Amino acid sequence: MTEQVLASGRPHAIKCIVTFIIVTLVGVVNATMNSRWYAHHSRALSVKSPLRLTMVFAVVSFLFSVSPSVLASSVEGVRLWRAPDHTRLVFDLSSPAEHKLFRLTNPERLVIDLEGTAFKAATNELDFSNTPISRLRHGKRNKQDLRLVLDLSQATNPRSFSLKKHADKPDRLVIDLYDIEASTIKTVETIQQTTKTSPKSDIVIVVDAGHGGEDPGSIGPGRLFEKDVVLAVSKELQAVIDNEPGFKAVMIRSGDYYVENVQRRKKARDIRAHMFVSVHADGFTDARAKGASVFALSRRGATSQMARILASKANESDLIGGAGSVSLSDKDDVLAGVLVDLSMTATLASSLDVGDRVLKNMGRFTRLHKNHVEQAAFIVLKSHDVPSILVETGFITNPEESRKLNSHGHRSKLANAIFSGIKDYFYDNPPEGSYVAWKKSNNGEIIHTIAKGDTLSSIAKRYKVSISTIKEANSLDGATIRIGQRLTIPAS
Ligand SMILES: [Zn+2]
Repeated sequence: MTEQVLASGRPHAIKCIVTFIIVTLVGVVNATMNSRWYAHHSRALSVKSPLRLTMVFAVVSFLFSVSPSVLASSVEGVRLWRAPDHTRLVFDLSSPAEHKLFRLTNPERLVIDLEGTAFKAATNELDFSNTPISRLRHGKRNKQDLRLVLDLSQATNPRSFSLKKHADKPDRLVIDLYDIEASTIKTVETIQQTTKTSPKSDIVIVVDAGHGGEDPGSIGPGRLFEKDVVLAVSKELQAVIDNEPGFKAVMIRSGDYYVENVQRRKKARDIRAHMFVSVHADGFTDARAKGASVFALSRRGATSQMARILASKANESDLIGGAGSVSLSDKDDVLAGVLVDLSMTATLASSLDVGDRVLKNMGRFTRLHKNHVEQAAFIVLKSHDVPSILVETGFITNPEESRKLNSHGHRSKLANAIFSGIKDYFYDNPPEGSYVAWKKSNNGEIIHTIAKGDTLSSIAKRYKVSISTIKEANSLDGATIRIGQRLTIPAS
């Protein structure tokens, strides 16, 4: 809140009531604009309802009868992050300031008014390429307020919220400009098609590199950021998964930007992923803390999530996901409760099973924090129909582990250990219709019947083997193949 000067000798009562009404209305507008609620990492980011904050502000105004007339805050810095579906601008503030945001069209602009704020930031380093922003302007308004104007090359869906001072981060105002054409929808459709229509479909593993962008996660010696380490491990993991026949990785983030925690888990459900793995590195004030851990959802987290699902079941179309999606909207409360409970119980059992395999694999070359899968109510783990684990790859705050986490060799070992646990699990529990199920039912030997449009190179690519391996296994001399011909594909 801004620093305020007590007014004196004026008809306070009327002014206060007017302030109360205006401020409350602004709160309602703010709350509406923030309707897509911002989920956040529990430790790094903390957001409060703007409506509630505004109400508190209004009540305080009423009680003390004040008028903001002093420049109490200033914008000290501006940073910019580009994500695949939105652009994020972060304004560092010397102290919290009330803000209003509105759109203007012809030409497209976004206006942000900040009460009692001065502008002291340098903006010449900002790179607006690949963003809808063409320019950032600022000016004074009502002598003491700041007006920021973003000139845009195209319309966007803006959202704004404030972040409170936390650790070494100042108070911040965050503006997210969501692209209107949702590029993510296309990816979702493509993946759904491949997983649904092919009889030998890939097992889809969602790889979630924790944190990102504004949220660095834990910070190790030499300002080694968790967000960077876990992105590197996740990219290794993606490569290992994509290199294995029958498996496919989907990344939650592939660059340095933040994705809301609820959206991370939601994406896994939207694409009907078979598994979700979130990659993190631990941090603690005591540099001696060490060891890797694996987490699954806690019983308590599962119970509260089930209650939430049942409370909103009328709005959901296919709550129990997977191959035979079951709608809950037409079920009575008792049956819906049983179905959600069954789904959550099975999912949690799978998460614990796969988590245990991953943990054992990691324990072969790195120290473990605990020798069993731990359970916690992390937001990203709350899917009731996608087995989900969170891997803490080690303590970034421990000098020795930090050095390891910063090395390519160790990251590669971690990625291989995580994937081999996942692979083992799916070979023991192959999803119906998957390539793995099919390969198992053929005792590891694959027979490919040539269809129209097949070429040796497309078949080799499909099974991730070389053309020469196929030729050798089938005693083929030339490159000629015919429709209906059966080829043996050696197990890779
Ligand atoms: Zn983390």
